[in-house]
Amino acid sequence: MSPQAANGLIYPKLAVIGCGLIGSSIIRAARAAGAVGEVSVADASPEHRQKVLELGYADLVTADPAEAVRDADLVVLATPVMAMSGAFAQAASALKPGATVTDVGSVKAAVVEALKPLVPEGVFLAPGHPIAGTEYSGPEAGFAELFQNRWTILTPLPREDDPYLEAVQRLVDFWRALGANVDRMDEKHHDLVLAVTSHLPHLIAYNIVGTAADLEEVTQAEVMKYSAGGFRDFTRIAASDPTMWRDIFLANKDAVLEILGRFTEDLQALSRAIRWGEGDKLFELFTRTRAIRRGIVAAGQETPEANFGRDHRQ
Ligand code: NAP
Repeated sequence: MSPQAANGLIYPKLAVIGCGLIGSSIIRAARAAGAVGEVSVADASPEHRQKVLELGYADLVTADPAEAVRDADLVVLATPVMAMSGAFAQAASALKPGATVTDVGSVKAAVVEALKPLVPEGVFLAPGHPIAGTEYSGPEAGFAELFQNRWTILTPLPREDDPYLEAVQRLVDFWRALGANVDRMDEKHHDLVLAVTSHLPHLIAYNIVGTAADLEEVTQAEVMKYSAGGFRDFTRIAASDPTMWRDIFLANKDAVLEILGRFTEDLQALSRAIRWGEGDKLFELFTRTRAIRRGIVAAGQETPEANFGRDHRQ
């Protein structure tokens, strides 16, 4: 366990930059767990700032990242990936020595590369990514239970000095207090894993919904009416935030293209098996994939309780 503040708080002051689904869920969960004292928020959107004020879970709401991070012990960057370094650059000079800066971006290598040169001496950068989410956006979409029994992946820098290791351990304790399980890995591996488990599935969903919308032989009314045949699940994923997902594909280009190459080869093989009537090949694959689904359910990553009725995570 890392040392906690004298009052039992993990971080006396939390600052969140970008208070949408993930940022607001972190604040709600941290407040519910009694992990933080004061909370400040910086957000670029006037409507979202107004919403955060109405929801009443922050002590300070501002457009200025530097004002929000003053005296903060933990700063969480929760803007879309491509906006992170710009927002952080505005805040960096106001950070207090000893503060920890983390982020929740769905891509890690590009974010770390952009943030690293901006971090002042004596401030600890410990990037992260909660594998939890919904297809909704904005501060009103957040909820305290979002991270319960979900994984958060931290991608700490390759540093072995005690102050840095203690800062990372404190962040681990924070995520655990929010109900998350915590794993660590290097950022390149994170990006490859997420390309398979999240980014490619989203690309496929965006593509299949786009294809259905463009078909001339099947009407829009038929697509809606018969969507329970599998299409409906894709539409939920394809409803995810366009800004966030544009940024993810641009920032994780190499890993996504690598996995997409493998996927295309496998799809070609499936297409050949269908053309040549190779039912055994299809049956063997579908049997293997069914076992994977059962493994996910057995690991508690697909239960109504874990989803809180919102069955989606990225
Ligand atoms: P969101 O609901 O759209 O919230 C992002 C917030 O940041 C919005 O209020 C946005 O305002 C604001 N913002 C944008 N640029 C800013 C800037 N330069 N300075 C300050 N605020 C700014 O997005 P989210 O779903 O919470 O995602 C946030 C991050 O979490 C992303 O990096 C994403 O990759 C990651 N993530 C998302 C999920 C998920 O399922 N959604 C899961 C895990 C991780 P505007 O709306 O006006 O732009």
